[in-house]
Amino acid sequence: MSTDKVYAPRRASIGVRVGGVTVGGGAPIVVQSMTNTDTAEVDATVAQVRDLWEAGSELVRITVNDRRAARAVPEIRARLDAEGCAAPLVGDFHYNGHQLLTEFPDCARALDKYRINPGNVGRRDKRDTQFAMIIEQAIAHGKPVRIGVNWGSLDEELVTRLMDENAARPEPRDAADVVREAMVVSALESAHRAEELGLARDRIILSCKMSGVSDLIAVYRDLAARTDHALHLGLTEAGMGSKGIVASASALAILLQEGIGDTIRISLTPEPGAPRRKEVEVAQELLQSMGFRSFIPLVTACPGCGRTTSTLFQQLAQDIQAHIRSQMPVWRRKYPGSEALKVAVMGCIVNGPGESKHADIGISLPGNGEDPAAPVFIDGQKVSTLRGPSIAEEFQAMVEEYVARRFGEAADAAE
Ligand code: SF4
Repeated sequence: MSTDKVYAPRRASIGVRVGGVTVGGGAPIVVQSMTNTDTAEVDATVAQVRDLWEAGSELVRITVNDRRAARAVPEIRARLDAEGCAAPLVGDFHYNGHQLLTEFPDCARALDKYRINPGNVGRRDKRDTQFAMIIEQAIAHGKPVRIGVNWGSLDEELVTRLMDENAARPEPRDAADVVREAMVVSALESAHRAEELGLARDRIILSCKMSGVSDLIAVYRDLAARTDHALHLGLTEAGMGSKGIVASASALAILLQEGIGDTIRISLTPEPGAPRRKEVEVAQELLQSMGFRSFIPLVTACPGCGRTTSTLFQQLAQDIQAHIRSQMPVWRRKYPGSEALKVAVMGCIVNGPGESKHADIGISLPGNGEDPAAPVFIDGQKVSTLRGPSIAEEFQAMVEEYVARRFGEAADAAE
């Protein structure tokens, strides 16, 4: 099915170069993430940036919250370069960004983008001066800036001003509407101010993060209609586990479907012991499930039901997905295009053969009372039937062979 017919056209936005990556301007939607290490701990931060980069994060944000962190940034950049990791680094600044960027020019140079929050750049009379100092550093070092409004730290003076204006209306709007309007106005007025200070329009990305799904959708629709700046999408404080994934995916999917969004981050709270890279995998799976980009072959598997009492097919689906994920760094180099591979692992004859035929390679396992045989389909044709205790290993080998044959040939032809 052509995706052109089911998606709204991508909203036209100004492309922004961040290191070697373009955000907006029609470029593919960029996946980004953020470390949770103490940036001053160089070894730990380098290791996590590398891990996120290898998982597919195309931009990685690190917090730059004090002098120790600012001092560490050039070393982190040098270590990553020496290890062949080209991940563009985004510095996250709050309250003291103007000081740190001025005091540590090597840090300002080493970063590929600065993220600032207009709600906590500075208070009252200091706010404009400190905001200007950050923008001047961005201009001096040729760096883009994300103006990232967050409803947890929304500019209080702006909210008060808009609330007062609203109260003076004959028919005041709902207070929640005024807060949403304040989010958008904060981003737009800050972008306007940055441009007045001399920052080029193609050096500005905007975001307006909220933690409520419906609020986020409403705010981004409004923002997208009022500016052509590139937009970073993300639900802030999405939460842990499936709650965080569902909330983020619900909000971002609607906006992406409407053509809104040039880069995304899924802000998951990691479960204890879980890898940070989970947020990258979820972002990729969201974009791939919607048909925007392909990162890694996805396994289609049925949920199982009373027709399958064994866990064989669940285990096989999980093993195949894990195997593909572990092979992907190699496949990406050796077999370009393999990220679009479609694999199906189905539990019985009801939907198994049909779904398997729609995949590039699929297997239909035997359900209860069925002949203990597992037909395998390649490019829509049944090619063999597996039996016995080593079905999983044999199917995995067939997937490997298929990838090498189909995508290896394409790589050879391109040489
Ligand atoms: S394919 Fe078979 S096992 Fe899987 S959900 Fe459908 S009926 Fe159940």
